[in-house]
Amino acid sequence: MSRVYNFSAGPAVLPEEVLREAQEEMMDYRGCGMSVMEMSHRSKMFQNIIEEAEADIRDLMGIPSNYKVLFLQGGASLQFAMIPMNLMKNRVADYIVTGQWAKKAYQEAQKYGKANKIASSEDKTFSYIPDCSDLPISPDADYVYICENNTIYGTKYKKLPNTKGKLLVADVSSCFLSEPVDVTKYGIIYGGVQKNIGPAGMVISIVREDLITDDVLEGTPTMMKFKTHADAGSMYNTPNCYCIYMCGKVFKWLKKMGGLEVMKQKNEEKAKILYDFLDESKLFHGTVVPEDRSLMNVPFITGNAEMDAKFVKESKEAGFENLKGHRTVGGMRASIYNAMPKEGVEALVAFMKKFEEENL
Ligand SMILES: *Cc1c(COP(=O)(O)O)cnc(C)c1O
Repeated sequence: MSRVYNFSAGPAVLPEEVLREAQEEMMDYRGCGMSVMEMSHRSKMFQNIIEEAEADIRDLMGIPSNYKVLFLQGGASLQFAMIPMNLMKNRVADYIVTGQWAKKAYQEAQKYGKANKIASSEDKTFSYIPDCSDLPISPDADYVYICENNTIYGTKYKKLPNTKGKLLVADVSSCFLSEPVDVTKYGIIYGGVQKNIGPAGMVISIVREDLITDDVLEGTPTMMKFKTHADAGSMYNTPNCYCIYMCGKVFKWLKKMGGLEVMKQKNEEKAKILYDFLDESKLFHGTVVPEDRSLMNVPFITGNAEMDAKFVKESKEAGFENLKGHRTVGGMRASIYNAMPKEGVEALVAFMKKFEEENL
């Protein structure tokens, strides 16, 4: 068996320990004679799995009891519609557009009401986070929406926007569980799990209880109501059982590692290795203003598309997978999520140094 260093933005690297455990439990989960994929979601076994998973993420993030944790399908993208359907009572919401995911959410919200783009960093290819200290928040806005870590462009809010008392809704797909958060600052904090937590196909939406009501936009499908899932403990219909099981294992792994404070330190250490090199390199350059750099997604370029392609090809041959930048922006991107070991980043930087010497 040989494992590569996988820098994919998502689906992405998972902790080896977690994969091994899942492998061991594949044929016979804890003496029940079947795998988790094969068991009823109504069984006692699975009930334990989902309850432990919820308890562990609550513990990790310090989620207060007045927030529900929902394990939902449709990925982060379905939340782009679910959020306005459930929250747009006045049919007005303010969006801060800092990349493609925020833009998609903003465009989707336009189907349900007046979505205002109150700030954007599109003028400079989303390479920074706009100043959000005094934005023209709409007086009747039902919420203010952000994408907290921009997976494609590699920016991250270091300070949450001043929403002037309005509800904050955040997509944290690519920084989920990468550092401690204060959940009470959000009305909804949600993310697809395939970036930093588990396999693809699920989103965890953490929703403040008072936002979960029957008062949703007319015509909202049953499956798109937060209340449907909250009332049924995320089991209104068959959930993504195996994904919940895998996420649960990752939560346990994170707790064993020391929790989110420790993950933050580790992530800062890893990101620094790469950013320090990019800052001194004569060949490679980061594309984001230093103060808004993501700890999770690090885009970089040589400034020459042919050289970029050569790097991507040679890095792959050397065992570094998925360093090609997003198809819409080109260049390179190294996603260095929780499960990427420090050695992986060190090995990448060593390879980049060697490539630079050979090609400059
Ligand atoms: C990947 C990603 C999405 C889309 O996730 P899906 O699960 O594919 O719908 C949304 N937002 C952010 C920030 C992402 O990184």
